[in-house]
Amino acid sequence: MRCPFCKAIEDKVIDSRACNDQGVIRRRRECLDCTRRFTTYERIEEMPLRVVKKDGSRVPFDRQKILSGLMLACHKRPVSTETLEEVTSRVETKVSETFDSEVSSRIIGDFVMEELRSLDQVAYVRFASVYREFKDVNAFMAELKRVLSGKEGGDAAGAQS
Ligand SMILES: [Zn+2]
Repeated sequence: MRCPFCKAIEDKVIDSRACNDQGVIRRRRECLDCTRRFTTYERIEEMPLRVVKKDGSRVPFDRQKILSGLMLACHKRPVSTETLEEVTSRVETKVSETFDSEVSSRIIGDFVMEELRSLDQVAYVRFASVYREFKDVNAFMAELKRVLSGKEGGDAAGAQS
């Protein structure tokens, strides 16, 4: 571990403890060169999250797919790329905090829709219509009402499919 003060490489661990139940280890280190102390956090690499698609197949979670979907929905809308990155990160965080190993693509789609709803109405409707695969306007309006009233929708397409 490189010392953040003098950039020396040698250090010794003076204290080591698990700081929570999520496999994070906090280590207090002392630089052998300048003797200043610093702290590192070690985390066990987590199991990669997988997305369960509508047909039951599993694919690795890919934040890029969320971003692409958002960009498509926000095409020519007054929404910056930076905002879309932030939305993507919020969705990603929410997904990883809620699910350990697998998440259905429609839950991810729901999270994205929640974000879009408050971000841009046009983008929201665009995303919803693609994501829910509506056959006609009535089906779309019915779903829109359901979503706006905060209830779960019916069978839906995967946002990542
Ligand atoms: Zn040092």
